[in-house]
Amino acid sequence: MTSLTNKSVSTARLEARRWLLRGRVQGIGFRPFVYRLATEIGLAGWVRNTSGGAEVWLEGSNDQLNIMDRRLRAELPPPGRIDECRCEMQRPKHCLGVTIESSEVMGPRGLRVPADRAVCAECHRDVLNPTDRRYRYPFTACTQCGPRYSIIESLPYDRAGTSLNRFPLCDACASEYRSPTNRRFHAQAIVCANCGPRLTLRSTQGIIECSELALSQARAALRQGQCLALKGLGGYQLLVRADDDDAVARLRERKRRPTKPFAVMVDSWRSAEGLAVISAEERHWLLSPENPIVLLKQRRNAPISQLVAPHLSLLGLFLPTTPLHSLLLQDLGFPVIATSGNRSDEPPAIDSATAHQHLTNIADAFLEHDRSIVRRLDDSVVRVMNGAPVVFRLGRGFAPSALPNLERFSGPPLLAVGGHLKSAIAAWTGQQALLLQHGSDLDDPDGRAGFETLIRDVQRLYDFRPELLVIDHHPDYFPSRWAESQSLPIVRVQHHHAHAAAVQAEHGLLDQRVVALTWDGTGYGLDAAMWGGETLVVEPDGQFQRVATLRPIPLIGGDAAIREPARIAVALCWDALGGGTSFQKMLRRLGIDAHQADVWIKLLQANVHTVKTTAVGRLLDGLAMLILGNLAISYEAEAVIRLEDIVDDHEAGTYSMPLTESAGVGHGDWRPLVRDLVADLERQKSTGSMAGKVHATLVRWGAATARLFPNLPVVLGGGCFQNRWLTEPMKLILDQPCYSPSMIPPGDGGLAAGQLAVALQQRQARVC
Ligand SMILES: [Zn+2]
Ligand SMILES: [Zn+2]
Ligand SMILES: [Zn+2]
Repeated sequence: MTSLTNKSVSTARLEARRWLLRGRVQGIGFRPFVYRLATEIGLAGWVRNTSGGAEVWLEGSNDQLNIMDRRLRAELPPPGRIDECRCEMQRPKHCLGVTIESSEVMGPRGLRVPADRAVCAECHRDVLNPTDRRYRYPFTACTQCGPRYSIIESLPYDRAGTSLNRFPLCDACASEYRSPTNRRFHAQAIVCANCGPRLTLRSTQGIIECSELALSQARAALRQGQCLALKGLGGYQLLVRADDDDAVARLRERKRRPTKPFAVMVDSWRSAEGLAVISAEERHWLLSPENPIVLLKQRRNAPISQLVAPHLSLLGLFLPTTPLHSLLLQDLGFPVIATSGNRSDEPPAIDSATAHQHLTNIADAFLEHDRSIVRRLDDSVVRVMNGAPVVFRLGRGFAPSALPNLERFSGPPLLAVGGHLKSAIAAWTGQQALLLQHGSDLDDPDGRAGFETLIRDVQRLYDFRPELLVIDHHPDYFPSRWAESQSLPIVRVQHHHAHAAAVQAEHGLLDQRVVALTWDGTGYGLDAAMWGGETLVVEPDGQFQRVATLRPIPLIGGDAAIREPARIAVALCWDALGGGTSFQKMLRRLGIDAHQADVWIKLLQANVHTVKTTAVGRLLDGLAMLILGNLAISYEAEAVIRLEDIVDDHEAGTYSMPLTESAGVGHGDWRPLVRDLVADLERQKSTGSMAGKVHATLVRWGAATARLFPNLPVVLGGGCFQNRWLTEPMKLILDQPCYSPSMIPPGDGGLAAGQLAVALQQRQARVC
């Protein structure tokens, strides 16, 4: 408890007020902010953290309290946010001075864990100021910035419970920590060169322990085109100069990552503008303390290697996360690729031993420090659509993400384990609902171990044991198999129902009936078929009905068709055209010889090694192949992403795709679309215009299914709504209110939030 004498309270009639705040008010320097403000206004009282928020009690004159009330909201330090503020009159207790009380006695279940924050402008200035005692110190932080979630070992959040507990404060830091007027008053991550972590550079030349020398040698390695492994905030990253084809090609080869785009870090906002066209909203996110990678439109002659994001005009850019990144990039004169420190699909390393073992054939040097990373957090990815952010990957800066609209539910703890690719889990601790960070690829053994570590971590950190596990229906998803091996009751939530519920949860629509367009690449349907182009009507009691779907698309060879989408293109053409000249022309376009096509069509006709799917993502895969020609793809959805990238936004036409009905369910017949597209291909229309028409056709069909329920709001969920040409026009052409994902990822990274929401709804309705 910090107690300090305040100037005397005004002699006007003494009144007391208590504010109960919910929202993002912990881990942002809120209590020191209240302390300073109340002191300045001349009030007395106290402030403390509560379960899920903060409580402020202040005494003074009515005028003073009014000023406090206004300034409390208006001057809240970023990135704070007040979701709810109850203010009530109280009988004064004649407090003396303002104090910061220790947290209300409560268990970790209700405590908000603050997310990591990128270096703030003031710390950045300190690091660049030769007269400041933290001049060029790479781990500088304050109440507004620095590591949080990535270093928390136990709750409540104070220094003793972080991995900085190995670094006792020096006298100068301790004095700043205790001084209410200092920016580092109660800053748990406070450190300086005398008492904090130290930098080391390891290379074939040996180990350098002098910070300045390590930095300059690391910069020299980057200049020479070498690959630097850097211990960042949430894990190791691999850095390579982004303007050098040879260096980028070497990284691609070593990382076994042929074409998947890399993110690029630039030293400043000005450098970012030299590489990409940036809107005001995009600029906001680039400069935000969450510090995500922001997907931006690359400038035509950007000074960057074409190998960074091959065949794409979108470029992922971000600014330095920590003073270490900032010092490293300073005066370098070129942007650097900053990608996760892993081989292929393994989880990125967070400790030195693993990094050295896994990255030894990739990195030429390691720039590291002795502050432990407690949990791995990938860099988050954001794209701005319709002027609003859409979080594609929820990691450092956003995680753990609160789900405030789920907090009206009650009952014992639950854990929702999410999907298989893009794994992420969500938890109801009994007092709060959370979506945790993007996890690992669960096809990888290390990734599976990482999943189990994350499950243990969330339970230990928030001190709860789930009484129920929520899983997908897919029998082969690793999280589902894991859940089945636990001796706990299980609830299964259908994949697309969960996508819909995630959007409902985000926008506070869980108590309403909605019509949901749920489009993705694959999800296990209630009939054991692969769904992904579904329109659902979702009920507030956690039930749903499928009201429209696509004509099933044959995947010749099952998963092989996902890796080789030309198989889908052949199946689409066969189904739409039969044999004939146009079909033969399309085979030639795809570079498929007659013999190969024959084998595939036999499999299709015999229905052998062929599964059917109604997924929009797969339909787009096949259409992309027809438009772009047969591409060898090396990452998930590559063909669809490239198709989206070439859309000509002047194209206003569509193809035909009627909405028919059978057995009370709407159907989207894509065969006329394929026939129209083939006619355009034969007329050699531009690829951009055909790509535009394909997207517009799907949007028009989707909107037609939503209009079957004209009185219901529409929600858009599933990975396809990362696609700008599906999301933005859908919102424009629908008259019904239409909600799309924003802070909960549209794809399977947000699935667990929806699973959790449905389980809570069902439990409330006493269905489960
Ligand atoms: Zn700072
Ligand atoms: Zn110090
Ligand atoms: Zn999905």
